[in-house]
Amino acid sequence: GGSCGHHGKKENPLPEVANIIAVASGKGGVGKSTVAANLAASLAATGARVGLIDADLYGPSIPTMFGLENARPEVLDKKIMPIEKYGVKLMSIGFLVESDNPVIWRGPMASTALKQFITDVAWGELDYLIFDLPPGTGDIQLTLVQTLPLQGAVIVTTPQAVALTDVAKAVTMFRKVNVPLLGLIENMSYYLLPDGSKDYIFGQAGGEKFARAQGIELLGSIPIGGQVRESGDTGKPVSIKSPESETAKAFLDAARET
Ligand code: ADP
Repeated sequence: GGSCGHHGKKENPLPEVANIIAVASGKGGVGKSTVAANLAASLAATGARVGLIDADLYGPSIPTMFGLENARPEVLDKKIMPIEKYGVKLMSIGFLVESDNPVIWRGPMASTALKQFITDVAWGELDYLIFDLPPGTGDIQLTLVQTLPLQGAVIVTTPQAVALTDVAKAVTMFRKVNVPLLGLIENMSYYLLPDGSKDYIFGQAGGEKFARAQGIELLGSIPIGGQVRESGDTGKPVSIKSPESETAKAFLDAARET
């Protein structure tokens, strides 16, 4: 575009947003959307102005996690109004297409949609804008880093997934494009037994070892449990539904460190 210089320097399309953070994972199903939703909700509960973009265009889960399956955004002055819930401003492809209608796009169309979420939505002034990225290292990740100055990326994994190369690949990708790694969140770390002890069903300290090996910080360890799953399925992140729970506190700690 006309505003692009010769050195790849671009104009920041969101100058009113203080911190832009990507939540990423190597694999799907590790709880990345759950983490993004709870980080956003925890930050908002502390009084911060927070936005969350569901950049998982082929598998949007933010509408379900916030209980907004039938929400449709308004358009005002040619800008799409984000939908606000639990103090978080949200945008998802799920608000624009029917949920039983799969999004079938080629990469460039998905990149265009993501850019529109950035430029055509009335985000206003925000302290944090969080991106729930699709798993892996594809078009969407690259579009994001080329469109916005990211403060950093938070990587989500399970203890088992860290044994796989996928998480390392995600870390390497962010290093290559000079996005700082804010840290690792280990999800499904342990099961909290009724007596208060922890059962490390997927093995202990996988995330800690990975974080140390990669020279990144371990921001938090989130237990596995029906509480997290149920609150995600019923549209109320556990940070909102049970703010006193061990799990909500772990998310809040991670959010503070972020
Ligand atoms: P991803 O975004 O990595 O694909 P999701 O956040 O959508 O993963 O989580 C996948 C499924 O696992 C969801 O049904 C979610 O409710 C569940 N889940 C995620 N984290 C936990 C957890 N700590 N305990 C129990 N269920 C979880």
